[in-house]
Amino acid sequence: MTTGTVFLIGAGPGDPGLITVRGKSILQTADVIVYDRLAHPSLLQCARDDAEMIFVGKSSAHHAMLQPDINKVLVERALAGKQVARLKGGDPFVFGRGGEEAEFCRANNVQFVVVPGVTSAIAAPAYAGIPVTHRDAASSFAVITGHERDDKGEAGTRAAGVAEGRRNWANIANAADTLIFLMGVEALDDITARLQEHGRSPQTPVALVQWGTWPSQRVVTGTLATIVSLVKAAAITPPAVCVVGDVVNLREKLQWWDDGDVRPLFGKRILVTRAREQASSLADTLRLEGADPVVFPTIKIAPPVDITALANAVANVGKYRWIIFTSVNAVKPFAAELAANRLDARALASCKVAAIGPATADKLMQCLGIRADFVPTNAVAECLVDEWHDSDLGGSYILLPRAADARDVIPDRLKQMGAIVDVVSAYNTVAPESETDQVRDLLLGNKLDVLTFTASSTVHNFVAALQLTTNAELMKSVASPTIAAIGPVTAQTLREYGMNPNIVAPTHTIPGLIQALQEFFGTNHP
Ligand code: SAH
Repeated sequence: MTTGTVFLIGAGPGDPGLITVRGKSILQTADVIVYDRLAHPSLLQCARDDAEMIFVGKSSAHHAMLQPDINKVLVERALAGKQVARLKGGDPFVFGRGGEEAEFCRANNVQFVVVPGVTSAIAAPAYAGIPVTHRDAASSFAVITGHERDDKGEAGTRAAGVAEGRRNWANIANAADTLIFLMGVEALDDITARLQEHGRSPQTPVALVQWGTWPSQRVVTGTLATIVSLVKAAAITPPAVCVVGDVVNLREKLQWWDDGDVRPLFGKRILVTRAREQASSLADTLRLEGADPVVFPTIKIAPPVDITALANAVANVGKYRWIIFTSVNAVKPFAAELAANRLDARALASCKVAAIGPATADKLMQCLGIRADFVPTNAVAECLVDEWHDSDLGGSYILLPRAADARDVIPDRLKQMGAIVDVVSAYNTVAPESETDQVRDLLLGNKLDVLTFTASSTVHNFVAALQLTTNAELMKSVASPTIAAIGPVTAQTLREYGMNPNIVAPTHTIPGLIQALQEFFGTNHP
């Protein structure tokens, strides 16, 4: 058996978009993923379904797994032939004890690969609007541990924290223009006192950046003289980066991430009820806006119970004058059925194709290389039939591959125009087993700012998954977050359940929904 490799991967500082391309691609294929608490949970979702996930989470208060045990897990799995991804917060070789893990691999003849990451030492200040160097303010920076010792002599490790133990504060205080302390919250009074003792002015600007790059980022600024009491008052706890130096003043000009004016969705916890297959585009965009999406897939796209109608339609696809796609979800099964018949897009040469909205049109291009002939201005069935311009339908065949339980607006109107409409079920929306308990607790604890609904089916399934209609307390708590619907049909479904949408997106697309949210929180709720 060949021995596996240990990949020491930097997860970046938190924002899941800040992992490297290589780091992510290794996560997608690894047999085993060993991770701790500073890695963003959404990074783990790209893992293989059958990957073994091992949490070794550390916080400065307690260790879920001691370092020698972590080392052993890595090496044992690799010796058993597994590809092991060791996902570490920030950069693996910046106070992450990645060096020790690599040494242990080497000692046991296990190959390792280092995938550097974006360290919080630089990224947390950056997200606070503080560049660690600047031509006018600092030409050097130093990264320093705030812990006297990194660990208090865990059994089996080397003499604990030798490098951290012998600290020469005169050197540290003058090591660079900008001083960056990691793991420094608990020792902040000591750090600020020693820096002043060794020549740094009490007026030197200082910032603490807690949970840097996360939607929960908090920043406190002051001076060496004042920061300790300010940090206490703000109850800043780890993880936080402490930045000392004139560059801290630049935040006044450069604040960008945790800024409610620029980013009205910053810090908002937003429930996303789309199918898991579709949730990531909405969740990713919300994250770019500083929001904290909670993905609660209330629908799951499943194959239709009976594929015969779709198979027959595809086998005779040339007879259709139009094929109408009313959802991205119909495109893939349709393409798969074409492929199963050893056909491709050329079989549709004589057909025209309509897409309900831009996302469906994109999917058609992506899966089949087909440009839609018709996309209505608004992505709703009513708009599609109102803007329908091909009046010459008498006796023409039209194919409508769609969800098993969709509305009949489109087929009814087209039949009135004389068309023969074949409605075939291409997919099913079913309720997935999902994070119901977590969402129920968030709702009851008033911890959700916004609920988003992107289709009537997400409303029905949300109500069903939480058993809302039979739980008065829960039903009451649903009223406190802002409720956002992608369009009027979804809004109407919400009202039927007694939920009043505060936002109905004027443009019924995901970007339209996000824009409506931004306008709502930007103008209505400063
Ligand atoms: N290897 C990591 C550092 C690990 S030591 C890196 O390169 O970022 C853990 C310390 O890192 C924490 O105590 C805190 O000081 C800092 N840290 C990590 N992530 C952080 C974040 N998102 N915001 C602020 N500080 C963070």
